[in-house]
Amino acid sequence: MTAQNVQNANTAATHEKKAAPSGGVIASKSALTPMMAQYLDIKAGAGDALLFYRMGDFYELFFDDAVEAAATLDITLTKRGKHGGEDIPMCGVPWHSHESYLARLIKAGFKVAICEQTEDPAEAKKRGSKSVVKREIVRVVTPGTLTEETLLDAHQNNYLVALAIGARGAASLAWADVSTGELGVRQTSIDHFLTDLAALSPSELVAPESSIYTDEEDHPWSEKIAEAGEKIAVTARPDGEFAPRQGERRLTEMFEIATLDGFGDFAPGERGALGALLSYVALTQVGKAPAFRAPRRTETGHLMAIDEATRASLEILGTQQGGQSGSLFSAVNQTVTGPGARLLASRLAAPLVDPIQINARLDAVDYFFGGSARCDDVRAVLSETPDMARALSRLTLGRGGPRDLQAIRDGLISAQKLSVLIADAGETMAAPTAIEAARGALVGARGDDFSALLQRLREALLDEAPLLARDGGFIAKGFDPGLDNVCVLRDESRRLIAGMEADYKDLTGVKSLKVKHNNVLGYFVETPPTQGDRLMAAPLNETFIHRQTLASAVRFTTTSLADLDAKIARARDEALARELEIFGALVAAVSAQSEAIAAAADAIAALDIAAAGAHLARVENHVRPIVDDSRAFHIEAGRHPVVEQAVRRSGGAAFIANDCALTDAADGAALLLLVTGPNMAGKSTFLRQNALMAILAQAGLFVPAAAAHIGVADRVFSRVGASDDLARGRSTFMVEMVETAAILHQASERSLVILDEIGRGTSTYDGMSIAWATAEHLHSVNRCRGLFATHYHELTQLSETMPRLKNVSMRVREWKGDVVFLHEVIEGPADRSYGVAVARLAGLPAPVVKRASDVLKLLEESRRGGPGVDALPLFAAREKPAAAAPGDEAGRDDGDKQDGEGAALIDALADLDPDAMSPRDALDALYRLKSLSETS
Ligand code: ATP
Repeated sequence: MTAQNVQNANTAATHEKKAAPSGGVIASKSALTPMMAQYLDIKAGAGDALLFYRMGDFYELFFDDAVEAAATLDITLTKRGKHGGEDIPMCGVPWHSHESYLARLIKAGFKVAICEQTEDPAEAKKRGSKSVVKREIVRVVTPGTLTEETLLDAHQNNYLVALAIGARGAASLAWADVSTGELGVRQTSIDHFLTDLAALSPSELVAPESSIYTDEEDHPWSEKIAEAGEKIAVTARPDGEFAPRQGERRLTEMFEIATLDGFGDFAPGERGALGALLSYVALTQVGKAPAFRAPRRTETGHLMAIDEATRASLEILGTQQGGQSGSLFSAVNQTVTGPGARLLASRLAAPLVDPIQINARLDAVDYFFGGSARCDDVRAVLSETPDMARALSRLTLGRGGPRDLQAIRDGLISAQKLSVLIADAGETMAAPTAIEAARGALVGARGDDFSALLQRLREALLDEAPLLARDGGFIAKGFDPGLDNVCVLRDESRRLIAGMEADYKDLTGVKSLKVKHNNVLGYFVETPPTQGDRLMAAPLNETFIHRQTLASAVRFTTTSLADLDAKIARARDEALARELEIFGALVAAVSAQSEAIAAAADAIAALDIAAAGAHLARVENHVRPIVDDSRAFHIEAGRHPVVEQAVRRSGGAAFIANDCALTDAADGAALLLLVTGPNMAGKSTFLRQNALMAILAQAGLFVPAAAAHIGVADRVFSRVGASDDLARGRSTFMVEMVETAAILHQASERSLVILDEIGRGTSTYDGMSIAWATAEHLHSVNRCRGLFATHYHELTQLSETMPRLKNVSMRVREWKGDVVFLHEVIEGPADRSYGVAVARLAGLPAPVVKRASDVLKLLEESRRGGPGVDALPLFAAREKPAAAAPGDEAGRDDGDKQDGEGAALIDALADLDPDAMSPRDALDALYRLKSLSETS
């Protein structure tokens, strides 16, 4: 595809976190150099991307692109020539290290079009001295279409998602990982879109432009897409790209099939979404495509729904502070390959709901759990297995190098070893289906045997190889007679050079004379400075031609050395050309079996995750859960996988395991557990560990407990009271209520809900009433399994009227006035809240703790009919300032000043209109008041 095509296909504007500049609008090209004219032509075809314009060893950026990139990359902005009387801004990044700059630009929200020289400069010269080397955009780099190892996280998929919008809120999502060739599709709806998107955690979303640029206020989709766009890049594409018929055509062309029926029954919207996705990949890869696998369809309702807020609260793949460490994923990740880790991440992000499928995964873990020697052997092989999926994708995209071929070779060698290990005789149990399927794929699925390819790769490739094919030197001796011949010539010449060095030493009598090589001079003779004059004087100057004098050496050439140099250079060029030919043939051979290689790579990932699951279960003491269609939720001695590891690392007392029953043993009805207890007693930990238990079990992993019986949950919800989202203009309380509303609307009898301290963001009575009503609704309307932690002690009375609500509490012990947390869940409500005692533990100043105890005592008395807080002198804890002595001018001045500023504070307060303020205004006002109070 040419630059012009890119422009045509990319006419849609882009809705991104940061739109790239147009490159500066140029009025006339008449005054431009031919190179600048070419630059502008190509830039016009780059759409909204920054243009990396290749010049020699650099990618240069010009005009606004240069200004933006220099600022983002913190590199020097220079200038080159003039346009319209003004300097043209320019900056550049070195070609050999451009990937790190690219990574930073992509992270900052830019797209980058890579423009390469597509002809030899010598060819251009033939057209005239002023002619410009031909250049073309070879690829547009966007967040969702990366393939470089350095730009990708080996443990995470990098998804690009396309959204096709249907009638009445229906929609389809298609996704691809260009770096692995994975392709998938599912139906969604306006209500489920963000949850379904969150399960994929993509880095770029492609959506129809009419859904983004609409005049309609409160357009439902544009709001949702804008919400998605707060986290990921959103690219608008013309609506026509999402047409089902076009999608079908693209798919049949790409997979070279007559009809899509063989792949499954795709709805029109799904075809449209896949089509738009593939067309965007073709656009950014400029016509090339990775070896995509047949699109896999996810049936609606086949996955456990986990919305964005729940993911964040449970810290499934990353913590709320950002980063993997401390997340569920990092606590349970024992995989030893990149593909295995990616599979684990995607299973945790999207657990299953079908007990048959879940048990098939658990069987695979059990297979290794039951045979620890086999598990260790398999893991040893896996740990030496490279990432074949990503190497394959780069190779098929024409972006691979010799190391990618090595990865395929070593991956296939591992596949062979693994197939032997899991086929080992003496089995004590039959291999489960998942393992059987993996075994088939490891040796080449569907009769596609790898042995010939593997033998060829083994014979062809050296163990040491450069990153880029054009650096040469990666094909083994004996593989190709043609290459060997040129190499003989090259090696022979090297011997001749060594001979020459000896001859020249004899001729000159200079013992320290050397024949050396560099890129500027080629081969040359070097002598110490003291000997230089002798070689420059007759008779030696007939042989030696002076080239260079340095402080440390004098350099010469000779006619025979120059001849030999040319011969060696020719041999080197020939050898390289031949190596590149062989490289191309090997890539073609790999591509011809790409489908089977991809299947083997998948099988390796499946083995890794199963063996890692078994290893985890062994080292962390996890058990296989019973997973079925019931509504059971019985955990015996459950633990929180992340907190347990943290407690262990801190060297403190052991983690205390706790049981949890969310189903009535007698009638199997769902229970709501009301958890009370002081802060820091372990309520949140207990709540979360049970939600994580369901996620782990339904992802197909063993769980941290002594025993577990879990009837599949269709959704898991987790909410923690009071977390601000000021960036989105929502106050703490608003966020809490929006999220609680979502749960009360959506939780079904099959769901698992955990609510932690709901209602904390407002006044006590409001908060308590909301918590009360929420608990009632969950109990009597949603009828889901749930855990509800609250510090509103009054709620414990609910158990009197609600048969399926049970009080449990965190056990604490008081010792010499301090509280000691036992982290043990016991039946019945907490006796009191211990808040003041916890505050003391936290290091609140003693007078404040004392004062709080007094207030608490009075409050409690008032409840029993005592005088209450009215009996407390207001601000009693604050020390009164010493009264100024009469006639003390300074003291009076000060008093006046304080009065004046006090009045200013009161005025500022009076000016506030809370009803008309946004959360952001409120925060600003608070800061203003604080600074006023500090000056008074
Ligand atoms: P808050 O109401 O302040 O959020 P909380 O009652 O929810 O407190 P957690 O945050 O769950 O308390 O736990 C506090 C700390 O107690 C944890 O960080 C952990 O170190 C420890 N902890 C919690 N549960 C256990 C347990 N079962 N065994 C050992 N230590 C635990």
